[in-house]
Amino acid sequence: MTLKKRQHFKKLLLAELRRHAQHIDDEQARALDITNDDMKDSDHALHDVIQELALKLSDNESKMVADIDQALMRMEEGSYGMCVRCGREIDERRLEAVPTARYDAACQAVVEASKGQGAGPSL
Ligand SMILES: [Zn+2]
Repeated sequence: MTLKKRQHFKKLLLAELRRHAQHIDDEQARALDITNDDMKDSDHALHDVIQELALKLSDNESKMVADIDQALMRMEEGSYGMCVRCGREIDERRLEAVPTARYDAACQAVVEASKGQGAGPSL
């Protein structure tokens, strides 16, 4: 994945994060705005903001925020966009729809089948 693509998906993730932050307060939404402009050294600060944010959200929302956090960490490690199960690249159209996706379509199906029906959102 190119740097440009990564930044594109990072923006998507941060936009989603901001949607959740809006439920909380303006101060945190502003903190996310600051980190959005500075792509380089802000990742640790961002991580802290996310952790704090997650504490204030409902279970369901904090789970989604945790997914975003993990996606951003994978981005830092350079493994973003690769299936965590089989290591293949995740289709970019899939990431476009679900930027927090950690499995490719094939593995997602397997994981969901093993979880049993009706658990979690279907991707
Ligand atoms: Zn896979």
